Amino acid sequence: MKYASTRGGELVSLDDALMSGIAADGGLFMPQTIPQFPLKAFDDASSLMDVARVLLAPFFADSRLGAELDGILEETLSFPIPLTDLPNPDGRLRLLELFHGPTAAFKDVGAGFLAASLSRLQKPGEKPPTILVATSGDTGGAVAAAFDGREGIRVAVLFPEGRVSERQARQLCCWGANVLSLAVRGTFDDCQALVKKALTDPKLAGRYRFSSANSINIGRLLPQCTYYAHASLSVWRETGRKPGFVVPTGNLGNAMALLLTRAMGLPVGDVVLATNANRVIADYLRDGEWRPRDSVQTLATAMDVGDPSNMERVRCLFGDADKLRHLIRVFPVSDEHIGRQIREHYAETGAAICPHTATARQAWRELDPLERESRDWILVATAHAAKFEDTVEPLIGAGVPLPQALADILERPVSSMSIEPDPAALSRALDGAFGLDGRSRVGR
Ligand SMILES: *Cc1c(COP(=O)(O)O)cnc(C)c1O
Repeated sequence: MKYASTRGGELVSLDDALMSGIAADGGLFMPQTIPQFPLKAFDDASSLMDVARVLLAPFFADSRLGAELDGILEETLSFPIPLTDLPNPDGRLRLLELFHGPTAAFKDVGAGFLAASLSRLQKPGEKPPTILVATSGDTGGAVAAAFDGREGIRVAVLFPEGRVSERQARQLCCWGANVLSLAVRGTFDDCQALVKKALTDPKLAGRYRFSSANSINIGRLLPQCTYYAHASLSVWRETGRKPGFVVPTGNLGNAMALLLTRAMGLPVGDVVLATNANRVIADYLRDGEWRPRDSVQTLATAMDVGDPSNMERVRCLFGDADKLRHLIRVFPVSDEHIGRQIREHYAETGAAICPHTATARQAWRELDPLERESRDWILVATAHAAKFEDTVEPLIGAGVPLPQALADILERPVSSMSIEPDPAALSRALDGAFGLDGRSRVGR
């Protein structure tokens, strides 16, 4: 299997696509062909691991990692991803819980896969890659946790100083010597701009082998298909029906994985996207014009995206708005409705959901009642409510118990460095932490 840029250009191997993150022409990597699976291909696959092995094998054909797929998947899927029943009069509503990983959000899956893959691609004696991540919260923590302590790979996490919650800051700044936490004196957009500048600055990029771990990396997309394949197969086997999915959506990474899974022949029914008040995808489906804009701040912060980068993949694979309208539906959800869904869910189940998951619950509510009742639906839960306790706890009037993994992280000592948002400052910070000789100098 070769990989091509969404903007054309030359074909590269999986290994190169994983390592470079973004194509030389600025496009996003896509598999050259979409493998097609008859359902009987999964006859002997019942666990998530089994399904993942069958599903991802074609993507690893011709890769140096082909023989290592089992080991990579064991590291990636090292925590449970349960599909649980939700109380609903006709019992056909389920929750796909993607939040049982090290940092309690679905990004642990993609980050874990990328870390497991990149560390296996590293050859002894080669200059260690430095992964730059700009984050407003969840991505940085997941990537840092996944790469923490991996020899021969360094990570620099850039976050806006003073603009992430106390708990988030701790998750970004508690890692070992190969992870440098940088509090940038600016906004998230400044962090992202700084990463882009560094990646394309010949002087800097020449000294450091930069790579990126944002959701445009194909290594984030592929493993996310595995839980959709497994969940859809379980419902199909149990009921003979294809479940519809409702996915909280920001950059369209998780939703793109679902669409890809359906395109490969897995029994995925309707695809419904839930966004927060950032309406760019909904507006596009309505009038066919793609108008990226500044993001607005909402309670579902990890979905505050005004220019979803994976739209380029969606359009490349499926076409323009006229075609997309038949493939997906999008429901923008207000903060008011997010709050109401968190309260209602708690009242009905005694469990807390995060603000992102709440958008999916609201979108499901907005479906036609007949459609809601006659089909099987899966709400995708993208993070644990305890990550967003400032929002969730006042709404439900109760504390949200921390999952053990998160409690462990919050116990760790923290250290970070504060920098101005300019490439020279970034360069000095990297030199100070990692030196030019490939050895780490960050201490605790
Ligand atoms: C990143 C994130 C999302 C949005 O996922 P995309 O792949 O960017 O659409 C939703 N919920 C949570 C908790 C996230 O961290």
